[in-house]
Amino acid sequence: MIPIKTFFKVFALTFFIIACESEESTPTPNPRILNLQTTGDSANELLSAKTHQSLVLELVSVKGFEPSKEAVENLKDFIEKRTFKPNGIKLVQRSIESTNKEKLTIQQIDSIEQKNRTQLSTPSEHAVFIYFSDATAKPSDDETDMHEGHMDNNIVLGSAYRNTSIVVYENTLRNLTSPIQNEKRRKDILTQIETFTLQHEFCHLLGLVNLGTRLQSQHEDVDENGIPNRHCNVKGCLMQANALFESDLMGSIRVLELDPLCIKDLQANGGR
Ligand SMILES: [Zn+2]
Ligand SMILES: [Zn+2]
Repeated sequence: MIPIKTFFKVFALTFFIIACESEESTPTPNPRILNLQTTGDSANELLSAKTHQSLVLELVSVKGFEPSKEAVENLKDFIEKRTFKPNGIKLVQRSIESTNKEKLTIQQIDSIEQKNRTQLSTPSEHAVFIYFSDATAKPSDDETDMHEGHMDNNIVLGSAYRNTSIVVYENTLRNLTSPIQNEKRRKDILTQIETFTLQHEFCHLLGLVNLGTRLQSQHEDVDENGIPNRHCNVKGCLMQANALFESDLMGSIRVLELDPLCIKDLQANGGR
């Protein structure tokens, strides 16, 4: 995959060449251009109602790996609580065939998106694409890539990539809960992990932490080398890097919420 910066250089150059060829011909812009930005770039538009009054969530799952209804409702409630979308949030859901690959890189997931995404952003409405995968995460060859993988104890649960794209590794989530014997309890815990993953990744699209939404106070966490890691250092916050495993996974997992510092950042960037 072409790194995003190179892509724009190539795009700009192509545009220039076409523009020079003939004064008459207007180049057709890539219809996907509004969905090819970097994670966090659309934070303000997703949070506020200044330009974008509604939102479409397109949920595409591999057959048999659909999220629970409650988890999807929880995501919708969460977005309503934190953003201004006076014309509402629309859900578009469907299932597709598996790629039959055990592991997928973010580049491969991106090409699944390019093939299957039907809802594109416009200047007045954003569309967010969420893919529920039956494959596990494979590290990218290209480290300059455009995504934020969410890792808990080295298990990648989901990833936000580009400005309006998320992947949830549904198979990984199910494997985590498979040791739970009681069927009802297993389903409940799975719903909670799905909810956590969806809300956490969506918050990266909303620019948390320090990823397009400016910090109002210093609460960005650092990795083991002291490098800021786009997560929150407040214990118990939804945006903590190891939030899920900080809670007692096999006991009763707490419903994780944003702490007041993350909420302040969102509010300062047009959210609620
Ligand atoms: Zn994360
Ligand atoms: Zn936080």
